[in-house]
Order: sequence, then C-alpha cells, then structure tokens
Amino acid sequence: MHAFGGVGAHPELMAGMPEEVAREKTADVFISIVLIMSLTSALLIAWTYHGVMSKIGILVMGADKIKEGDLDFSINIQGADELSEVGVAFEEMRLRLKADSVRRLEAETNQRQLVSNIAHDLKTPLTAIRGYAEGLLDGVADTPKKQQSYLMVIHNKAGEMDALLNELTAYSNLDANRIPYKFMRLGARDYFTNLAEEIGIELESKNAQLVYYNYAKEDVVFVADPVQISRVFQNCIANSVKYAKKHEPLVIHLGVWPEDDSLHVELKDNGIGISEKDMPRIFERTYRGDASRTSAGGSGIGLSIVKKIVEDHGGSVEVHSHEGEGTTLSFVFKRTKR
Ligand code: ADP
Repeated sequence: MHAFGGVGAHPELMAGMPEEVAREKTADVFISIVLIMSLTSALLIAWTYHGVMSKIGILVMGADKIKEGDLDFSINIQGADELSEVGVAFEEMRLRLKADSVRRLEAETNQRQLVSNIAHDLKTPLTAIRGYAEGLLDGVADTPKKQQSYLMVIHNKAGEMDALLNELTAYSNLDANRIPYKFMRLGARDYFTNLAEEIGIELESKNAQLVYYNYAKEDVVFVADPVQISRVFQNCIANSVKYAKKHEPLVIHLGVWPEDDSLHVELKDNGIGISEKDMPRIFERTYRGDASRTSAGGSGIGLSIVKKIVEDHGGSVEVHSHEGEGTTLSFVFKRTKR
C-alpha cells in the first residue's frame, strides 16, 4: 500500500529515488485519489437518489390511494427541499379532500333522512284522509254530524300535508340561500301584538291558550322581514302544539321586552319538554327528538329554519327545557332607534 499526502509525492521523499520509481509512486497516488473521489461521489449519489426516490415513493403511494378513493392516510415527508414542500402541499390537499368528502356525506345523509321523514309524515295524514273519505263514501258516517266531523278531519289532515310541503319548500330555499328577505323597519309593539292575535285565534281552535305581554313602547323598532319572522314563531308554536302534554291543556306565554340595543322575545310552553340527550342537536337539520315522539309528525327541519332566519336577521335563539316541564325559546334581535 502506498501512502499519499497530496497530488504529487513530496520532493524530499523522492530524493535519491530512481526517476521511474518516483513516477510510479505519483501515478499510484493519483489513481488512489481518483478512486476515493469516485467512490465518495457514487455513495453521495446513491444516498441522494435513495432520499429522493423514497420521497417520490411516498407521494406516488399517496396519489394511488387518492385515486382509489382512500383518504385515510397521512403524508409525512421531513426535510427542507422542494420534494418535502410538495409533501406538505399534498397533505394539505388530502385534508381538504377529506373534509369535503365528510361534508358531502353529511349532506347526503341529511337529504336521505329528510326524504324519509317527509315520506313517513305525508303517509300518515294521507292514510287518514283515505280512511275518512272511504267512511263517507261507504255511508259509515250516516248522520250529518258524523259527516261534518269526518270532513273536518280530512280538512285538518290536508292542512298538515300542506304545512309539511311548505316546510320542504322552505328547506330547499334555505339550502340554496334563497330565502327572499324583504327587510323593513317594524314597530315591536304593533308587530308582535298583531302576530299574537293571529296565533291566539289559531290556538283557541286547538283548545290551547296564549298569554301575551309586550313591554315595548311605540318607539321600539327593529329591522326584519315580517313574513319570515312570522314563520319563525309559527314554526315554534306548531312545535308547542305537537309536543304538548296529552292530559294537560297547553298554555303558551309570548313575551316581548326591549333592552338598550336589543329586543327580547320569549316563547314558553308547558309541553313535554326536551330530553338532555336531544338538547344539543335540536337545531340541526333533519334531527328529530326521541323516536317515541316521531308519531307527532314533522320533518325535523322546523327549528333549523328558525335558527337560520333569526341569524340572517343578526339575531340569536337559545333553548331551555326540562323533560316533563316545558320548553322556552329565547330570541334576541337587534333594536334600532326610531
Ligand atoms: P320536528 O319536525 O321534529 O318538529 P324541529 O326541527 O321543529 O323538527 O324540532 C326538532 C326536535 O326538537 C323535535 O323533534 C322535538 O324533539 C324537539 N322540540 C322542538 N320544539 C319542542 C317543544 N316545544 N317541546 C318539546 N320538544 C320540542
């Protein structure tokens, strides 16, 4: 083995050596250096190649998984080079695709749930209408009084179907952000007094009672769409009626009072109340409470429409309820000066 110490052997070491031996030694040293350099660069290339290839491999694996529709993996490429940046961008893309697919799945489930709710709830009044119409045709209702009450049931059931279909229309408008708002300045005193009159008449026909109080003076004004706000309270009242106790007369309190910058409206019933389990979800689209109550009929979108309309008005709605004691909905709207 030759020792080496530079590109050429040291002249002192070569002194006294025959010229041929010295030339040979220089050549050996030179070859050794070339060999070492080649080996080092080969190792360096192999190492870099391996690093690059393994990163590309991870990216290819990710692309394949996405192609197959699998988004449950994660790309983790460490480093500060361009490929690592591609890895980070890839992972962000995967997370975004995953979030989109979860959202789409939720929307599909909601849609399916809605169709099944509506189908079920249209069937119930339809079956009743058919039954009572057959009763009339077959002559089972053989006195004018009976005929009148059969017709009344048919009329009421048709009304239920109408309300359900209206809810469906409202839902699709809501979904497409297409509620045609016509905002205007409303006097809180007159607006709610008129609404309470309408609601009171409706409740009377259902043997229920409305207790109404309004502490807003003439100058209390809020900006709202009167038709949509009426829909909000009609939806809530319809729920109070649906979820009333069977053996206790329904009493609903509707209260209105102003504060500095806000207008408070409270709707309280003495119905069956909402269970703790249902409470966090009742404003979700298509969510319906306990299966036992689904006999009351409904699509499960009433309260989600309520929340959406109230929030589109810059307001808020909260619910307080105890099972067996009743439910209170508290609304806050922005108040403007006259
Ligand atoms: P639904 O069509 O089922 O009435 P909603 O969105 O209007 O749908 O209400 C969601 C759920 O909230 C209902 O299924 C019911 O369990 C509960 N709920 C709403 N309002 C009341 C109420 N006043 N009393 C008792 N439960 C209520």
